Amino acid sequence: MTTTITNWGGNLQFRPAEVHFPEREEDIAALVRRARSEGRRIRVMGAGHSWMPLICTDDLLVSLDRWAGIETVDAERGIVEVRAGTRLRALGPVLERHGLAMENLGDIDVQSVAGALLTGTHGTGAQFGVLATQLEALTFINGRGELVYCSRAQEPDLFRAAAVSLGTLGIVTRMWLRCVPAFRLEEHTFKGHLDGFLANLDDYLGEHRNVEAYWIPYTKALQIKTWNETQAPRRRGLNWWFNKVVLENQALGALMHYCKWRPDQIPRVNRFVASLIGDDRYVDAGYRLFATPRRVRFMEMEYNLPIEQFPKAMQALEEAFYFRHFRVAFPVECRFVRGDYLMLSPATGRNSAYIAIHQLKGMPWEDYFRTAEQIFRQYGGRPHWGKMHFCTKADFADMYPEWGRFQKIRATHDPEGLFLNDWLEEIFS
Ligand SMILES: Cc1cc2nc3c(=O)[nH]c(=O)nc-3n(C[C@H](O)[C@H](O)[C@H](O)COP(=O)(O)OP(=O)(O)OC[C@H]3O[C@@H](n4cnc5c(N)ncnc54)[C@H](O)[C@@H]3O)c2cc1C
Repeated sequence: MTTTITNWGGNLQFRPAEVHFPEREEDIAALVRRARSEGRRIRVMGAGHSWMPLICTDDLLVSLDRWAGIETVDAERGIVEVRAGTRLRALGPVLERHGLAMENLGDIDVQSVAGALLTGTHGTGAQFGVLATQLEALTFINGRGELVYCSRAQEPDLFRAAAVSLGTLGIVTRMWLRCVPAFRLEEHTFKGHLDGFLANLDDYLGEHRNVEAYWIPYTKALQIKTWNETQAPRRRGLNWWFNKVVLENQALGALMHYCKWRPDQIPRVNRFVASLIGDDRYVDAGYRLFATPRRVRFMEMEYNLPIEQFPKAMQALEEAFYFRHFRVAFPVECRFVRGDYLMLSPATGRNSAYIAIHQLKGMPWEDYFRTAEQIFRQYGGRPHWGKMHFCTKADFADMYPEWGRFQKIRATHDPEGLFLNDWLEEIFS
């Protein structure tokens, strides 16, 4: 019997012919060899938290949920070997017991390690790269069924291709992560002004370890979050739970559903939401503060931009709201990331800002996303691989200086296109 798989956003549904949950690396390799000999195709699924059709297949689907856990911890060097199906959430407490932590995380932690890293998932913080920059090495089973190892030092070009590759080179089985000594952060949430934030961005980024801002459309209000290291005692308690779970999920969900029913009220609702932004401080282990629960379902597009283009892109987006009257109550999320050297990382070769736009599931999103995409592209944007976009192969070839090099490496490791689905074939073959 085939199962219908649905992604987190609910915009993708597909029925693979077979779903496999291998428990050993040998079983993963055997699956690949079988697929190859039978002329079949394979996609791997992490936690299904991408909006783009990366995991969709009507052939073989592999989940590494049973190939999870930490294999080795080298506390002295801070290198941790994890199985690719491990969820990020499972890592934090184990690393903490070894006095270690991942230096940075995104705003959820339910993804699989491979699923998150291979799409260029990122957090925020001008001194930190996308999560894949925390990789030291990885192994994958390529399209010939071979187990391939590459690292920063060994096969560095292959490593730079594989670290953000959407699973198009093969099935990643192990990842070696470079960790840092465990740290505690103070999170400070407060109200800011859009124009002031854009004008003083360098100061914000220079003064804080991590900075994130949520702009509330139809207002000038921002909710700004900063995180800085501290030795202060843990402080989270009911206040955190009330703000993150009740206000940012239940109350936000109720307001968003009201907006679905009365879209004409969105500017008024947004002004009301802006008036509620308070001043809060929490202290906890870093990995416990970065991630927040996400219970309201939405569609999302996120673009990486050269950081110097960020203020102009935000101003253009603000103008578009007034000209086009988008019925959007969701805040626009702004984050900052250090440039890197990975071939298909959206932050490759440039220090970056990310702008993410959202729409409540079930509300019209395409006009908003297409208009925003035009703005982001005009300012040199590259889309997040896991989130909505309308880019084609020609667009990617234009955006990524090492696109041709990546394609050659891909062709070497997956000569028969075993790891492509229809969408990936359009982009990568
Ligand atoms: C609510 C929400 C919040 C989010 N927050 C952030 C955020 O803060 N920052 C950010 O950058 N992104 C964010 N994302 C996007 C998300 O991190 C990415 O889409 C990520 O890829 C999802 O991980 P996953 O485990 O669900 O992978 P999936 O979506 O299941 O898979 C992603 C890709 O990885 C491949 N893959 C997975 N495992 C393997 C493997 N072992 N070998 C080879 N290929 C593999 C899949 O084939 C696919 O191509 C968010 C998404 C949601 C829904």
